[in-house]
Amino acid sequence: MTTTTDLVSYEDALASYDPVMGLEVHVELGTKTKMFCGCSTELGAEPNSQTCPVCLGLPGALPVVNATGVESAVKIGLALNCSIAEWCRFARKNYFYPDMPKNFQTSQYDEPIAFDGYLDVQLEDGETFRVEIERAHMEEDTGKSTHVGGATGRIHGASHSLLDYNRAGIPLIEIVTKPIVGAGERAPEVAKAYVRELREVIRALGVSEARMEMGQMRCDVNLSLMPKGADKFGTRSETKNVNSLRSVERAARFEIMRHAAVLSSGGTIVQETRHFHEDTGSTTSGRVKEEAEDYRYFPEPDLVPVAPSREWVEQIRAALPELPLARRTRLLAEWGISATDMQAILNAGALDPIVATIEAGADAASARKWWMGELARSANESGTALDELAITPQQVARVAELVAKGDLNDKLARQVIEGVLAGEGTPDEVVDKRGLKVVSDDSALGTAVDEAIAGNPGVADKIRGGKVAAAGALVGAVMKATRGQADAARVKELILEKLGVSEG
Ligand code: ADP
Ligand code: MG
Ligand code: ZN
Repeated sequence: MTTTTDLVSYEDALASYDPVMGLEVHVELGTKTKMFCGCSTELGAEPNSQTCPVCLGLPGALPVVNATGVESAVKIGLALNCSIAEWCRFARKNYFYPDMPKNFQTSQYDEPIAFDGYLDVQLEDGETFRVEIERAHMEEDTGKSTHVGGATGRIHGASHSLLDYNRAGIPLIEIVTKPIVGAGERAPEVAKAYVRELREVIRALGVSEARMEMGQMRCDVNLSLMPKGADKFGTRSETKNVNSLRSVERAARFEIMRHAAVLSSGGTIVQETRHFHEDTGSTTSGRVKEEAEDYRYFPEPDLVPVAPSREWVEQIRAALPELPLARRTRLLAEWGISATDMQAILNAGALDPIVATIEAGADAASARKWWMGELARSANESGTALDELAITPQQVARVAELVAKGDLNDKLARQVIEGVLAGEGTPDEVVDKRGLKVVSDDSALGTAVDEAIAGNPGVADKIRGGKVAAAGALVGAVMKATRGQADAARVKELILEKLGVSEG
């Protein structure tokens, strides 16, 4: 099935319309047990081995709220500058789907645990944009369906489906923004920056690893356009389960161009869910959107209300870690770097490795240099993340130390790093095994210097005649002869000494 979608160019779309966005992010919490039962949440277990009467929805089973789940929700709410409800309830969201054995999802409806907050996000150029948060509420994940036999893994064309309920009941926090207006052409960038900032906040709080590629964090992108200058929102589409930062940006961009095409040709946007396709960067129609009343929400009668005491909330607030934006702002000032430098560090995933390397004793400049230079290049080449490279921050700090002591120059240090990455051992072991040490003692260098002078009599004459700059060629020859291990500064001194000239 191929459908082509008419698009208006991005520039033309933005010339006539203002985009309005709403982002709904689901985060799977990293609790040991599920939200309403004691089943393990460990990944990778045999299908349906982590289930019980509660998460299978067997008649008469009674759920109990996971206190760590509530605490995580409060942490997230506070980090997002939200108010925390003094009293709130869970609600049943009723619908049938095979991966949801209870025939309702236990969620929160009009009484979310956290509401009315904001998150400041930073754009590529360092500018800050405030995204208002409508609510953050607790709910549970569904099971997982696998459709077998079809071409695309979709249910269409499948011969049968497999159901795994291990995921059913894993705690989720859903974080919903207020309509984001005023971002204009930067709307897709704001969407991406928001999801990235939220991911960093979640990780800093330690409530989830928030790995999008593993489905621990996913984003629904709501988007509508209104004619420039209008004050009434247009009809939105909702692109579901977008699972990478890049896709969030692309999905928003695509929907802007698609909506503009529909609207400018006199059509109307239907409120529907849509699927995003990584390969084409486009979205296709999903299902026509249910209204809230279709779910017949009602308060969950089997669970007691959640009433976090003010003392407890304040204890949690006092124990919050330094949040990512504050940390970045502090480091940027401490290191004296620009917003663009910081952005490059973030994009490379190098912030934590650099900080850890500094904590292990390296100075900030060399920690940044190695992670953003040699190591970033190496990670790029092998397609791995920086923090998955076979070198620790402690080892990088040791390399920096050897350079600072003059035992290694940059060229040798690169070889040491290469050796560590290749599994040849610690930096010191690689230095020993490969015999990589700056040679600076005169007896060892003397012979090489004599040979260089003898081999280049013309150059030597020029230097004797006062052209000190020509010494570079002889230094180069010595470096070559010593496979880069000579102390270049000392070599130059020796050459000048032997030729009887003084520098400058
Ligand atoms: P639903 O559960 O039906 O998706 P929610 O209210 O939970 O509804 O979420 C809708 C999201 O879309 C929110 O982030 C909201 O701010 C945003 N939103 C609401 N109306 C519009 C609109 N017209 N255009 C774009 N986004 C919108
Ligand atoms: Mg929604
Ligand atoms: Zn269970």
